[in-house]
Amino acid sequence: MLTYLKHQFLTVSVVAFCTFIIIIISQLQSDAASLNTLNDRLPSPQIHPLPATLTNWKDSTDSSDYFNEVKTLEFGYLVWSQFPIKVYVEQVTDNNSSQSWSKTVLNAVLEWGVYLPLEVVDKLEKADIRILHESPPLRQGQLRARSGETRYELYVSKQGERGILSHRCTIWLNPSQTGKYIAAVARHEFGHGLGIWGHSPVDTDVMYFAQVRTPPPISVRDINTLKRVYEQPTRLGWPEI
Ligand SMILES: [Zn+2]
Repeated sequence: MLTYLKHQFLTVSVVAFCTFIIIIISQLQSDAASLNTLNDRLPSPQIHPLPATLTNWKDSTDSSDYFNEVKTLEFGYLVWSQFPIKVYVEQVTDNNSSQSWSKTVLNAVLEWGVYLPLEVVDKLEKADIRILHESPPLRQGQLRARSGETRYELYVSKQGERGILSHRCTIWLNPSQTGKYIAAVARHEFGHGLGIWGHSPVDTDVMYFAQVRTPPPISVRDINTLKRVYEQPTRLGWPEI
């Protein structure tokens, strides 16, 4: 019975921790139309130059990675090619806490800034990745919201007359999280936002698939994986032919 309960608890935690899904903008007809038109003129997936922060990354410990767990999407890998990546964190005032939610979240995501250039912006509309103090949207059949969720949207940006397949991310962080778990979930979801579209099977990695009692810092394996993602081809960020 105990084993059963433990198993059940683990399953719930795994489901509750996070998910990441794809939303292609379809609410706006013009966006959907330009995405469709662009689709025929997109170049084949190509590799972007590696940002210096990742070029300089050397793993002297030979810690390997979990790149095999990262999914390829229909346009290739989910990599950013315009730096710095603009990040917005919702401002929440909380008088009961010594450190505000927003500050905790910001500090956690900026830990990734060592490896990819980030810039904090104060307007949601300007952001590539926006982080909201809000429960992830419930889906059909789901009884409670997860602790965090990351979604991306595709849209077409312009370079002169040419369209570029682009993306932006939204991260929902459930306000029910407290203490060290606020930073842990933010750090994990932001890893998805940066392009690690998969989970590590090892619990000392930030991108481990479940929440753990003592959340780890960003690991060598997390960065090895991130670097490999950025060495992969994508259709994102390249102008139409
Ligand atoms: Zn996740």
